Amino acid sequence: MVSSDHVSFPAYLGVDVGGTTIKIGIVDDSGRSLAHGKIDTDHERGPEDGVRRIIDFAEGLFAEAGLNWEQIRAVGLGTPGTMDVKQGMLLHMPNMSGWDDFPIRSYLAEQTGKPVAFLNDANAAAYGEYWVGRGQEYDSLIMFTLGTGVGGGVIIHDTTLDGEHSHGSECGHIIIDSSADARQCPCGQFGHLEAYVSATSVAKRTQEMLADGAESSLQAIQSEHGEVSSLDVAKHAEQGDAFANQMIRETGHYLATGITSALHIIDPDIVVLGGAMNFGGHQTRAGRAFLEAIRQRIRELTFPVLEENTIIDFATLGSDSGYIGAAGVARKQFG
Ligand SMILES: [Zn+2]
Repeated sequence: MVSSDHVSFPAYLGVDVGGTTIKIGIVDDSGRSLAHGKIDTDHERGPEDGVRRIIDFAEGLFAEAGLNWEQIRAVGLGTPGTMDVKQGMLLHMPNMSGWDDFPIRSYLAEQTGKPVAFLNDANAAAYGEYWVGRGQEYDSLIMFTLGTGVGGGVIIHDTTLDGEHSHGSECGHIIIDSSADARQCPCGQFGHLEAYVSATSVAKRTQEMLADGAESSLQAIQSEHGEVSSLDVAKHAEQGDAFANQMIRETGHYLATGITSALHIIDPDIVVLGGAMNFGGHQTRAGRAFLEAIRQRIRELTFPVLEENTIIDFATLGSDSGYIGAAGVARKQFG
């Protein structure tokens, strides 16, 4: 329980819906998380049941933080999938059957009795990093969330770039290869950044090179398990495997190409890299080498003034950025 004399009221409920889990937290007016946790999405039970379980779980969090619904000003909700942000609608949820064409914003508002701010999950994460994370002291930020897929978020002067058709900030689908043999992205199009730098894509690229006979300690993993993951690549790079280190450098170069295109449109203060696909982040040599490869390649691709002034770094909030950012957007809209 958080001592209530340190809490800045009002507080906000932040909800970050994912295909596997839903993260829920109570965040105070200064961006401090008072209580948080997660539940299984169990998407096959449908969105009405999902909303009911979100509310049940939130009530447990209120008890934990010594709060109640009266102290909550508004709810922020981030979701994946294709949506109509202006209408508050989920349109197409690829990994959540039964959630398509659902008016999630009005339903959640009706069930909680609170106004609901609704946005794309990657923009919510970006807003979290902007509000109280790595981007805290800056005016504008681009975030790339590297996981199973690649999410993108853009914040300019406290505003999320949702776009006129709810497809703003889709940095994972920046085109980095327009040649005939460009890789196919899960969205169906070719040459998109996600097809090169997501955890899934890194694993696929690595496996192809191993099948082509690349000399590496990863060959043993490939023969034993029939596949390798981006975590295996990080581990073997850390142990000094030259091929694994080359894969990390190459991934950094692909990412730098996408980042540079985004820089040339937005020109932000900072680019933040979130998500679990970071080869260990600042904590490991492999993670630091990844970041250095990205920075170095951007230096080769961009204008001198951006090369000197744009900060490129890992995110700091981890998987909390989504619900904190959703709460932050609720604060901005209804606070
Ligand atoms: Zn795509």
